[in-house]
Amino acid sequence: MKVVNPATERVIKNINIDDHHSVEEKYRLAVKAQQSFARSDIPARLEIVKNFSALLLKQETKLASLLTSEMGKPMAQARNEIRGARSRITYFLEKSKQVLSDDVVLEHEDFREVIIHEPLGVIANISAWNYPYLIGVNVFIPALIAGNAVLYKPSEYTVLTGLELQKLWLQSGLEQGLFQTVSGGGGVGEMLLELPLDGYFFTGSHVTGKSIYQKIAKKMVPCQMELGGKDPLYITSKNHKLAQVAKAVVDGVFYNNGQSCCAVERVYVHKDVYHDFINVFVKEVKQMKMGDPMNEEVFIGPLARKEQVAYLQEQVDDAVANGGKVLSGGKAETRQGYYFQPTVIINTTHEMKIMIEESFGPVIGIQMVDDDQEAISLMKDTAYGLAAAVFSDDQQQALNIMDKMDTGTVYWNCSDRVSPRLPWSGRKQSGIGVTLSEAGIRAFTKPKAYHLRSKI
Ligand code: NDP
Repeated sequence: MKVVNPATERVIKNINIDDHHSVEEKYRLAVKAQQSFARSDIPARLEIVKNFSALLLKQETKLASLLTSEMGKPMAQARNEIRGARSRITYFLEKSKQVLSDDVVLEHEDFREVIIHEPLGVIANISAWNYPYLIGVNVFIPALIAGNAVLYKPSEYTVLTGLELQKLWLQSGLEQGLFQTVSGGGGVGEMLLELPLDGYFFTGSHVTGKSIYQKIAKKMVPCQMELGGKDPLYITSKNHKLAQVAKAVVDGVFYNNGQSCCAVERVYVHKDVYHDFINVFVKEVKQMKMGDPMNEEVFIGPLARKEQVAYLQEQVDDAVANGGKVLSGGKAETRQGYYFQPTVIINTTHEMKIMIEESFGPVIGIQMVDDDQEAISLMKDTAYGLAAAVFSDDQQQALNIMDKMDTGTVYWNCSDRVSPRLPWSGRKQSGIGVTLSEAGIRAFTKPKAYHLRSKI
């Protein structure tokens, strides 16, 4: 398989991909290694995870530049991603022992009830390319701490990072077989679905997720789906610091070139602040530095995938054809690499693809609303349910709106943010199951109920 740098369109590496035989071999090795790993104690596993985190710190520049070279994430954001991953690991290191400890839920003189949290076994972690460290860590860290073995299938667009992760685990002291990277495209991912694994943890698009979910259903094993979104953000009339709001919204929309599952994908603005907001927002957008992602000053790099350029152009053209007005950008850059100009479109409606379909790129549609009621109904007009944000100086107003959102996450005066302490979950087409938080640690275990009578 050829690995192409999206900034230069040059092949940077050719790698061998897995086939049925090698995938089955990896599975056999994982089963064997997991049996003894499940009997190891949690502090010993935590030590290995600590070593892994220390290696991420030590090798930050090398790992960040590898990621930048294969998927185009600007260097500063690649470093941030690795730092973010380490901070999530710190949470897991602090919390897991308590969460995975046996729970004595009843203790009478001659009778006890205890819950033991057993590992699932060998699990598949099928992952996306947009944040391979962050979304990988959400799954493989708690999975390993709980005593599972992981077959990790990175996206073909971040396969080098995936292979590097396997090396890091071996260097951290993890026994061979417990974390194995499976290389290749969707076809190799399918091979994992054919194995009798004990759990499937998928991050990716709704279309792929749904098809995997259907195939796994017959196995009756845990199957979690972290899928896409079309996250709305609403700026109410009660906003007096529009310059700060605009900066925050630019970050929510354009960070990682808009290629974030929880990126702001559509904006609604109350008519009272609409024109002032648009002015400052467009100014902010035009200040973003686009260019070579290896340059630490660059904020917008190339898109990770070539096909995405045409996909975004189609969304923009569709919006314009239906009455949208482009205030910034609107087309691909005429330079080498998969660059698309940061694009702002106003006068949008829900008749346009840009307000309905996940964009996953540096484009945003903005729609004016007359009141909160209209904003709420537009925000809820979606098949997705990942996150929704409200900007307002009035907390109660924001909370009233957030309460009505059918999403796994809601934000007040912030967006595009994930915390290891809070559950990360999508509703409707955004997925099923939870990563992060205590629930995201327990997700990698199965409870066993012990009824213990000491006297008959
Ligand atoms: P895809 O659904 O295209 O791919 C996800 C993973 O599945 C990749 O490893 C892919 O391999 C693999 N895959 C593809 N086809 C199959 C198949 N038939 N069987 C098994 N595996 C398969 O998503 P992207 O990688 O493009 O990721 C972007 C999507 O992920 C966006 O929708 C985004 O919103 C979502 N996402 C959701 C997150 C969340 O937490 N909710 C977080 C991050 C992203 P390959 O790439 O090699 O084809």
